[in-house]
Amino acid sequence: MSLSKAFDHSKIRQDFPILARKNRGKPLIYLDNAATTQKPQCVIDSLTHYYSNNNSNVHRGVYELAEDAENLYRSARNTIASWLNVSPEEIIFTRGATEGINLVSNSFAKPLLKKGDQIILSEMEHHANIVPWQMVAKDTGADIKVVPLLEDGSLDRSKLSEFLSSSKSAILSICHVSNVLGTVNPVREIIKEAHQNGVKVVLDGAQSVPHLKVDLQELECDFFVFSGHKLFAPMGIGVVFAKNELITEMQPYQGGGDMIDQVSFQGTTFANGNQRFEAGTPNVAGAIGLAAAINYLAGIDFHQVDAHEKKLLTQTRNELHDIEGLVEYGTTSDKAGVFSFSIAGIHPHDLATLLDAEGIATRTGHHCCQPLMQKIGVDATARASFSLYNSMDDVHAFTNAVKRAVKILG
Ligand code: PMP
Repeated sequence: MSLSKAFDHSKIRQDFPILARKNRGKPLIYLDNAATTQKPQCVIDSLTHYYSNNNSNVHRGVYELAEDAENLYRSARNTIASWLNVSPEEIIFTRGATEGINLVSNSFAKPLLKKGDQIILSEMEHHANIVPWQMVAKDTGADIKVVPLLEDGSLDRSKLSEFLSSSKSAILSICHVSNVLGTVNPVREIIKEAHQNGVKVVLDGAQSVPHLKVDLQELECDFFVFSGHKLFAPMGIGVVFAKNELITEMQPYQGGGDMIDQVSFQGTTFANGNQRFEAGTPNVAGAIGLAAAINYLAGIDFHQVDAHEKKLLTQTRNELHDIEGLVEYGTTSDKAGVFSFSIAGIHPHDLATLLDAEGIATRTGHHCCQPLMQKIGVDATARASFSLYNSMDDVHAFTNAVKRAVKILG
């Protein structure tokens, strides 16, 4: 079902069948959207339809069914490219954001980096945007510089400027939106500054695409990665955007079928363009499901989604502000709908267990951000993360359950 431009979260909610299920016998209140989002019926239908009618391997089939699959796969790439405002040749399908960053670090950065070159990251990065760079740094002798965070969870821009202005800096890889703090980084300004210093920019968009309308022409970043499953699409499909002129410089890091031109035991030549980076049978159904999710979102005004999620966040804060010992992590004014917090004397896992018993799905732990946990001085936080289908009732249920839990555990 497609939606009108007017944003109505209660109508949207009806498009997501899983939200009607129970959790521990209570109505499910799903507040773990930063981990993965739920899927609208149209995305689920697109998978069923594909496997019922069009399934075939892509690329070399001459029969009609194979052509159908090929056309759908191509059309999915076109949909994703036009949604990001880039060309389809600049889209590489991956399994997700993690594989995307591994691709960029291995195929672009590794051949380019020399001993002493600098890769700039920040303290708010997900392990997916740390570990691949550490591996590449180890192989090349490059150094990693880490931009510290200020008290409110924003980047220390003066330190960032200092790093960017070093002649040794080659690559900046940061998240667009933090999965723990909700911080929306001012990436347009940062990208401009990086480019003035000749530094290439990789943006981890895993947490931005579900909340913000991203226009990559406008942002002008060199690389952008995200995962379909955080954007109402299936798991196992993701996207790397790489600027055309950079794709031609990149070296494949995975070899196999579909990425070659000629293979012999004397040597192999590779296919041109983005195809060189899609070795093996791709996740055709996943790409089609991602295009279905994007078509679904095309009917929704993202400014209204952002405003709605901000209202939910503000209400959460207001309803919890008098809990003694509660600390919210990430307090920038421009923040996505992510509420990470701790309560003195209460272990986040105990809190989440009590919330679960009331039907409420939240996440606790280090959120794959152990360096950030070290920075804020905790082992784990509790986190409620909102999406377009959450309501004020969800917020009330969550905050009331937190208050009851505090009485039990405090
Ligand atoms: N970056 C950020 C900011 C994330 O939140 C996540 C997922 N939590 C990832 C990268 C990795 O995404 P995936 O596990 O889907 O590859």
